[in-house]
Amino acid sequence: MASMTFDLEAAIRTIEDYPKDGIQFRDITTLLGNPSAFRRAVDELVHPWAGSKIDKVAGIEARGFIIGGAVAHQLSAGFVPIRKRGKLPHETVRVAYSLEYGLDEMEMHRDGISPGEKAILVDDLIATGGTAEAAVKLMKEIGAEVVAAVFVIDLPELGGAKKIEDLGVPVRTLVEFAGH
Ligand code: AMP
Repeated sequence: MASMTFDLEAAIRTIEDYPKDGIQFRDITTLLGNPSAFRRAVDELVHPWAGSKIDKVAGIEARGFIIGGAVAHQLSAGFVPIRKRGKLPHETVRVAYSLEYGLDEMEMHRDGISPGEKAILVDDLIATGGTAEAAVKLMKEIGAEVVAAVFVIDLPELGGAKKIEDLGVPVRTLVEFAGH
């Protein structure tokens, strides 16, 4: 486990003070561009569910689409996009969630997951957990059984993973970074 974590951590680039002062932006484009790190990350994320039946993988726009698509393929599951308001063409369910400044809204297609289907939520990183919490609410609203939420990166000081576990959804993360 330790060596796996080390490899992946080394493949993630940190940009200081982006997008604003005081934020250490964890840039996964370097991980995605590294063939063995990308494969490793996807393999490790899906490991607990290898061989079990997962119907759908829901990915959060935009980096969650890239990892979520690969995770869905690996699990032989369908992929469902969770997008910013106004981007999806068919009937949607919508939820508001708070960002550091103000509110945003995300949507998914109402028929993206059928009631009772087993689904996994994917994003690149969990910080405060506000984004993932909103996504879990959408998935539950349309009747999904949310089996897990998985993220390459956890910022544990911000408490997001705990917030999602408190909703009854197990969380899997691969690399932890201190701070914001
Ligand atoms: P949160 O809702 O606070 O858990 O924020 C998670 C979302 O914001 C994810 O979609 C991340 O991609 C993005 N995010 C938050 N903090 C960072 C960070 N330090 N580096 C890269 N992305 C971040």
